[in-house]
Amino acid sequence: MSESKILIVEDEVRIAEILTDYLKQAGFAVEHKERGEGVVEHVKACPPDLILLDLMLPGVDGLEICKEVRKFSSLPIIMVSARVEELDRLLGLELGADDYICKPFSPREVVARVKVALRRLKAQVEATKSEEKELFSVDEEAERISVKGTTLDLTRTEFKLLRLLASRPGRVYPRAQLVDLCAQQEGEPAFDRVIDSHIKNLRKKIARVLGDQEVIHSVYGVGYRFEIA
Ligand code: CA
Repeated sequence: MSESKILIVEDEVRIAEILTDYLKQAGFAVEHKERGEGVVEHVKACPPDLILLDLMLPGVDGLEICKEVRKFSSLPIIMVSARVEELDRLLGLELGADDYICKPFSPREVVARVKVALRRLKAQVEATKSEEKELFSVDEEAERISVKGTTLDLTRTEFKLLRLLASRPGRVYPRAQLVDLCAQQEGEPAFDRVIDSHIKNLRKKIARVLGDQEVIHSVYGVGYRFEIA
């Protein structure tokens, strides 16, 4: 496989250097931009395979870059920020980033997430839709979800949650959005721990069919992501 090209957009040179070293060691080609200006044009002219995009940048910020890139490309974007609250806000804006990483991070973790995002992209391209359907199928009318042909015994809220998560595999859904969904569903205010317990139950029910294969993944400090490995 030809090496994938990662574009790092990061104004903290030291961080960019460390990431560059680790990514190169992992077999990636790396480019680095220190400022936001010109990044969108650069991506248009010579698209990388993935962008590691810092949020706070001199010139044009990461938010604007992500929005602009999404207008013409679906290449994986991993947003990086020093503040969890900022990541929360970003998720609320539904920018279409593929993953979010909070500083400080371990470079190894970043490399792992880059690999995951690229693998996911490859899988998306290659996987036939029907294969996925065979594993997970949603019957909207009957409000039923089957895994490998076995219908899950779900409550209405669980159905809504799983349907939402499974509608966009790989996408991170912020906790706040899931809390809203539950509140709507149950007609009373919901709390974070309510979501956690629904997720726990869903995992248990799915595990009865799939065993150890985890499909609902926690994204620390952010929310949940559905993905069939
Ligand atoms: Ca920065």
